[in-house]
Amino acid sequence: MSEPLVDTPPDLDFVVVRYPDPVLRRVAEPVTDFDASLRRVVAAMYARMIASKGVGLAAPQVGISRRILVLNPTGELGPDDLTLINPTILSRTGDEDWYDEGCLSFPSIYAEVKRPERCRVSFLDLDGVAHEREFDGFTSRIIQHEYDHLEGVLLVDRMSPADRQRHKAALQELVDGWKRRAPAPERR
Ligand SMILES: [Zn+2]
Repeated sequence: MSEPLVDTPPDLDFVVVRYPDPVLRRVAEPVTDFDASLRRVVAAMYARMIASKGVGLAAPQVGISRRILVLNPTGELGPDDLTLINPTILSRTGDEDWYDEGCLSFPSIYAEVKRPERCRVSFLDLDGVAHEREFDGFTSRIIQHEYDHLEGVLLVDRMSPADRQRHKAALQELVDGWKRRAPAPERR
């Protein structure tokens, strides 16, 4: 038998963590190693984002409490892919707009959220190289939503009291679903 040319590890296959899983509430830790394992995680995050028809995904949403965001406002992979490692939002400017936001961790729930139009972000790329860029429009909206995930802030915190009331049953359903799937406390 011949040796394989390269050692190909099996692809990671992430599932999206749903509210109210506690990993979504943790403040994510910075990435320190810019190695092959980071590349594998990022590739698998893009795969999950596209398969779930999302435009952005934060690492806590796949159960990894690290400061990693992937996004693409087109909802497809391509030149607009944006990988932000250890991002910091330096400033938020422009008019505040309302937009009907969804979140893969809150399936089928949409709520109006008000955010400033532009944001200026410092971040590292996959090689650990520092960048600083200003974003506007839909990309800025996605970054601000995904950045919230790194701080443990969720759609349910940003929605109006009226929307929270309107989505009360759906939110409760997510809580019940999580309780059914969560390991029993004595097994933790
Ligand atoms: Zn989200």
